[in-house]
Amino acid sequence: MIHAKPDILIVGAGPAGLTAAVELKRRGFSPRIIEQDKGPHTESRALAINPRTMDILEPSGATERLVKAGFKARAMNIHGPNGLLFRLETRNIPHPTRNYLLVLPQAETEKHLIDTLGGKTKVDWSTELTALELKDGKPTITLKHKGRREKISPDIVIGADGARSIVRKALGIGFSGAAYEHDWGLADIHLDGLARGEMHVFDLSPVLIMFIPIRGDLFRVVCDANKALDYIPAHIKVKRIVWQSQFRISHRQVETYQKGPVFLAGDAAHIHSPLGGRGMNLGIEDAAWLAWLIERGETGSYTGLRHPVAKQVLEQVDQATRFISSDGWAATFFRRNLLPYIVRPDFIQRRAFRSLTGLGTPAPPWL
Ligand SMILES: Cc1cc2nc3c(=O)[nH]c(=O)nc-3n(C[C@H](O)[C@H](O)[C@H](O)COP(=O)(O)OP(=O)(O)OC[C@H]3O[C@@H](n4cnc5c(N)ncnc54)[C@H](O)[C@@H]3O)c2cc1C
Repeated sequence: MIHAKPDILIVGAGPAGLTAAVELKRRGFSPRIIEQDKGPHTESRALAINPRTMDILEPSGATERLVKAGFKARAMNIHGPNGLLFRLETRNIPHPTRNYLLVLPQAETEKHLIDTLGGKTKVDWSTELTALELKDGKPTITLKHKGRREKISPDIVIGADGARSIVRKALGIGFSGAAYEHDWGLADIHLDGLARGEMHVFDLSPVLIMFIPIRGDLFRVVCDANKALDYIPAHIKVKRIVWQSQFRISHRQVETYQKGPVFLAGDAAHIHSPLGGRGMNLGIEDAAWLAWLIERGETGSYTGLRHPVAKQVLEQVDQATRFISSDGWAATFFRRNLLPYIVRPDFIQRRAFRSLTGLGTPAPPWL
């Protein structure tokens, strides 16, 4: 049995690891958090913070910082080749106060989580976990810091070390699933020709292209074809390209989130398409639930509580990704001619937002 204040090592200072640190600290623990990178990240992967995440990060004070730094997106416009098909209004998000999606680049979200930690809990940068062994239920870890090696034996290890998780591999836990067939394109661009502060999706079958506002005239472009900029609708004027890239997406999930006192959270446990912006939010949820279970001494139920949630999200996101990016006749006809009528009533929008914003998953019992 683990004593009252165990030694806890968190591997990875992404959103999941930082949330684990913030939530454990708030509950009276003093976790150590290590990160292989030299310092805070600068790239902005996830942009959307959903109401469930804001609820979870409220008690630590992180939400107040995030809301101050980000902006509130109030609508999602779905366009066809001949104009607007329909509009989802975030006033239909079924939350008593947070009827918006908060937009903030992931690097800034991480910075505010680090600031929330404050005090004595600092990220150990340039510190890499190179090996993990589990013997008689006790983990032995090797760390590498500026060429020096350190061996430690914490009571609890949280592997929040991303999709290529070395913790997951060391535990021999499989990551089953598959990659989608084609590459996706990504770019951050300054542009004219789109309503600012709102999200826009263009269904230009066979290509789908999304514009997520970052700030002012700066938008993130995500496209289900690798050269995103080739598909920008003609009425949108590209003023400046900040950066562009391509990526291949997969949907995968572990069969168990834990082995002995070693746990997985975030992308180390599940990955899926960026459609719907659930990835970072789901990892933050995992980490917060795990901190709550550690405090209660009930970590045995972690997999049972979190696996079904991510499984459901993966299934929904996979279906949506296939449906939205399908260029088959029936799917295209349905999206352009029937969907605009189906999603018009507020009660349908409320149902759509419930799952899109994380509010359809079990509510955290501690809030
Ligand atoms: C282009 C793109 C757009 C996205 N958009 C969204 C979105 O809009 N909304 C959303 O919710 N999600 C989005 N996501 C997904 C989101 O970025 C991830 O789900 C999120 O970053 C996962 O957080 P994490 O903390 O689990 O892992 P990561 O952010 O990957 O963090 C893991 C950390 O662990 C560190 N690490 C790894 N191995 C070791 C080791 N051995 N020792 C020490 N440190 C280690 C890594 O350096 C890294 O910092 C997007 C992803 C991409 C690629």
